[in-house]
Amino acid sequence: MQIKLVFVMRRNPSTTTVPTAIMLAVLALGGLLYTANASPYGSVQTAGKSTNVAFHSGIPREEKWKSVGHKGVTLWMTGLSGSGKSTISVALEHALVEAQPKSYFVYRLDGDNLRFGLNRDLGFSPADRKENVRRVAEVSRLFAEAGAIVIAGLISPYAADRQYAREVHQNASLPFLEVFIDAPLNTVESRDPKGLYKKAREGKIKGFTGIDAPYEAPEAAEVHCRTDKLSVTQSVNLILEKLDEAGIHLQRKFRPMPEVMPEGACQADK
Ligand code: ADP
Repeated sequence: MQIKLVFVMRRNPSTTTVPTAIMLAVLALGGLLYTANASPYGSVQTAGKSTNVAFHSGIPREEKWKSVGHKGVTLWMTGLSGSGKSTISVALEHALVEAQPKSYFVYRLDGDNLRFGLNRDLGFSPADRKENVRRVAEVSRLFAEAGAIVIAGLISPYAADRQYAREVHQNASLPFLEVFIDAPLNTVESRDPKGLYKKAREGKIKGFTGIDAPYEAPEAAEVHCRTDKLSVTQSVNLILEKLDEAGIHLQRKFRPMPEVMPEGACQADK
């Protein structure tokens, strides 16, 4: 780029004004100095089983966030099967993408959906659940890096695995909010949207969280939605409030969602 500019100056000296020529010369010099000193590569090192790899940098995230209009953030939705992670995630996605004065860049990583592709080689053993969380954490980080509001919804029953997901973001200086989608076992079991609790009680599914596999409830989640007490819209608005507090949008305020369901229509135990 800089070399081309110099070339233009030489070919057409009579048509180049003095201030323009100075500006072009400064640009060309800057470009040459940049090329001489800066390398996009970090040091060559070992990462896990990968030897001799070097990190290659591109445009800083702040520049990408400016074009997106907001910073990236990960909302980590954890809770029992049937607690409402998917339902609230979709409603939140709708609220952010379609119901604001300007659309937000949202990417929903649904634990079940990912098991059809990226995580199809994983089962539900503790080791596989850990690997499941690790992969989703890393993918979330990448999307947040790109400026997305990531809504990652997966049971993620182990506190240590969720802590790992948090650290992946903290180490990359990216905001991370743990969102506890919480409802008592008897509520989620009575909802049983996929009929899984029934199968687990009949012994047809082994290692089912809440029945014969543990769920370690978050102790200090940034957001706590009791879905047996809050409507879907109330949970969405609670999360929007926390997103506001996290300061991820560069200029705007979220517009809260109006309650669409009549009072009492929530199937929650009050
Ligand atoms: P998960 O993704 O956590 O497994 P789902 O969202 O798939 O849970 O299922 C939750 C079920 O509970 C849905 O059928 C949803 O309609 C129902 N439900 C009833 N009341 C609520 C509520 N207040 N919040 C979220 N879901 C609710």
